[in-house]
Amino acid sequence: MAYVLVINSGSSSVKFQIVDPNAHASDDPFVSGLVEQIGEPQGRVTVKHAGQKFVVQREIPTHTVGLQESFRLLDAKGIGPTQLDIIAVGHRVVHGGMVFSAPELILDPVVEMIRSLIPLAPLHNPANIDGIEVARALLPTIPHVAVFDTGFFRDLPPAAALYAINADVAERNLVRRYGFHGTSHEFVSSQVPDLIGRDPLHTRQIVLHLGNGASASAVENGHPIDTSMGLTPLAGLVMGTRSGDIDPGIIFHLYRQGGMSIDEIDNLLNRQSGVKGLSGVNDFRELRTLIDNEDENAWLAYNVYINQLRRYIGSYMIALGRVDAITFTAGVGENDKHVRMDALDNMHMYGIEIDPEKNNLPNDGPRIISTDDSKVKVLVVPTNEELAIAQKSAKVAASLA
Ligand code: ADP
Repeated sequence: MAYVLVINSGSSSVKFQIVDPNAHASDDPFVSGLVEQIGEPQGRVTVKHAGQKFVVQREIPTHTVGLQESFRLLDAKGIGPTQLDIIAVGHRVVHGGMVFSAPELILDPVVEMIRSLIPLAPLHNPANIDGIEVARALLPTIPHVAVFDTGFFRDLPPAAALYAINADVAERNLVRRYGFHGTSHEFVSSQVPDLIGRDPLHTRQIVLHLGNGASASAVENGHPIDTSMGLTPLAGLVMGTRSGDIDPGIIFHLYRQGGMSIDEIDNLLNRQSGVKGLSGVNDFRELRTLIDNEDENAWLAYNVYINQLRRYIGSYMIALGRVDAITFTAGVGENDKHVRMDALDNMHMYGIEIDPEKNNLPNDGPRIISTDDSKVKVLVVPTNEELAIAQKSAKVAASLA
């Protein structure tokens, strides 16, 4: 069996999976692993395989040590990357700027190019490069492929991509809408035409990726025409801990009148806002429990979340003109029937009607949840970014043969 090793390298953690690129989106990966607390006195490597979990606790000073320790653990079980038929290593890279749209075979100049984009993603791209360098050194004979979170949105129409700020300043600082979660929006939207029996070249759809991070996209005939995240993943929908769209004047106000530093405001908007900022919790299961217990703040947080979601759905309906499908995906979108129902409540006059019975079925693969009469089909399609990265990486590797 041929596998792809998929690596998602963060600043203090590395997530990886060994994936069969021909698997289904809901299949468990062959192996999944997590290296945590890199650089701290006590680190941890966790590897899961065939329903079993193996843990090693030790200091992990660097990403190299973390991956080495993971590979040693897998080797001891006979499932190490050099013991399996690994055809490619796929790396998730957050920011591809205006440089990268398609997955890219990683050669030295590609690493340099990703490095040159660090100013656009100062936390993410350096960690992604660490992962790439470590993995290339450990597995030098296998093709490595970079898959960009921004890639799918690289060619947004200018009317959607440009911000109405001074053009020279914007250009000098590379300020524009890039969009994120592109791998997921592409993976999900590409399955929809088949599921609703339409020609992909004549399908207009809205995709709602609602996880801890959340984003919406409008996709016309396979190409995105708008998306809710911007220069950074802070924009758009209300998220677990991120504010989504706010009046930019709030930042000046907090700085000048609130006495907060830029770093404090950054932390506030990225980590202490969104549903958590309003209710105290960011997990929708906990939020639901609070709502059931009549917690006022939880109810308010939920309503702000739904209101913002409906704003985006409405504006993308207008942008697309005709909508064939609206699809929910990611942790909240796949599992929370209330969010789906409330997001599309009272839209019969636009040809959108969810069937409550279908909506209540458990999350079990791609499915249509609208009534048979609903002009716009409403779907739930599980996303699987690792599988999508594995498929793209396998394709690049095959093109080399
Ligand atoms: P990430 O954005 O971190 O990749 P996911 O797409 O896995 O996240 O989504 C994680 C979120 O999904 C959780 O924080 C939780 O709010 C939500 N979630 C997961 N399972 C359920 C469930 N059964 N019901 C409601 N929400 C859920």
